[in-house]
Amino acid sequence: MEAAAAAVLAPEGRQNWTALIDDVTAGRWIDPDTGARAQVPFGCVVIEESLRGAEAGLLAGVMPAERYAVVADVATYDVYGYAIARALGARAEVVVLEAPHADEAEVRALRERTQGADALVAVGSGTINDLCKYVTAGDGRAYSVFGTAPSMNGYTSTTASITLDSGLKTTQPAHAAKGVFLDIGISAEAPQYLIAAGFGDSLCRASAQVDWYFSHRLLGTRYATSPYVLQTEDEAATMARSAGLGRRDHEAVGYLHRILTLGGFGISLVGMSHPGSMGEHQISHWIDSFAGAAHPGTVHGQQVGVASVTMARLQELILARDEAPQIRPNDFDEADLRRRYPDAAVGDCIKACRAKAFDAARAAEFNADLQRLWPEIRPLLQAMSMPAADLAAHLRAAGGGATAEEIGMDRDLYRQAVRHSREMRDRYSMLDLAADMGILEAFIEEEC
Ligand SMILES: [Zn+2]
Repeated sequence: MEAAAAAVLAPEGRQNWTALIDDVTAGRWIDPDTGARAQVPFGCVVIEESLRGAEAGLLAGVMPAERYAVVADVATYDVYGYAIARALGARAEVVVLEAPHADEAEVRALRERTQGADALVAVGSGTINDLCKYVTAGDGRAYSVFGTAPSMNGYTSTTASITLDSGLKTTQPAHAAKGVFLDIGISAEAPQYLIAAGFGDSLCRASAQVDWYFSHRLLGTRYATSPYVLQTEDEAATMARSAGLGRRDHEAVGYLHRILTLGGFGISLVGMSHPGSMGEHQISHWIDSFAGAAHPGTVHGQQVGVASVTMARLQELILARDEAPQIRPNDFDEADLRRRYPDAAVGDCIKACRAKAFDAARAAEFNADLQRLWPEIRPLLQAMSMPAADLAAHLRAAGGGATAEEIGMDRDLYRQAVRHSREMRDRYSMLDLAADMGILEAFIEEEC
């Protein structure tokens, strides 16, 4: 584990930003849960102070092609797309998308516009990366990404957030980038809210781990420690530099890219998104899926940051109890769900709610288990968690917001998300526990 110390100096005296990351991609890292060499579908992650001049060589190394489509939006074309296209010379065709959305219509249009290319080079962050990832996963071409902002952990994820023609926002299986190329200097010039968003997305670790471990012990959900072992040292190093993120400090941005990369790897290791996506991500997904015209245009990581603070607060209130929490039998109101959700979503919501309903017998069994396990799991869960006030202070130091209002979101919309997001997915989080205990409404009233 010495390699996990990111401050290992490479021979030239510069920081080796991909220590540990290289061990994982090369299959050298031993998964502590299985004792076997960890496998991730990512073969090449490069994080350097600058990648200028190296672009064509990097692409030739991981994704040789006769013809590349360099895909950017207007802003990222100026920031980096132009330079990459120039480095590729005659082999590049440039596709600049105007205000793109990661939806099915854009996917079809991009496939059409890039049909002459052998491989896609995404230059951007969330939307551009998701579009190129999903288009190429669908037609079997390869893609690589030059990230322009440390705004989310999607560079090293194999799924894409795509809005369907029905309007439903979904997470679709896609594939891994052949190369993930992250230039710290360019990333440090990204809009401050995007830097803070990436930091917010990384902060979900604590609340997701608490939710996931609780679900594991009470409901038998499969659990693994490897995603967290992978992140421990870099999480501390990144949080220690939250104020540096607020100043666009390059070292802080380098650590942020590391923790985001490792967070993505953790999900690949276990083949399920639970290690980095529980109650806090559900709140964010609900906002993206159902806010409609009330959506303020905030990005994923901003929402996840705020929701991570909310979940940390809820978890610390529940974990402060010496006595085991007890739930009441509960059911859901199908007619009410049908009224509140669009047709395209209502089936999944009913399914999720049905899976989480407790009749009297099941509630009694759950309560007995919780009573028995509480003295043991309470300190374990407390050790995994982070104080909500600390998370909020770090988010603000990084230039981000820690409440709905601070990211420009209507408070009532956010409260709706906290109240209802558990209806859209069958994962059991402390939002469910709080609702089943009968304390969620009071929590929303006092804390959100
Ligand atoms: Zn996320």
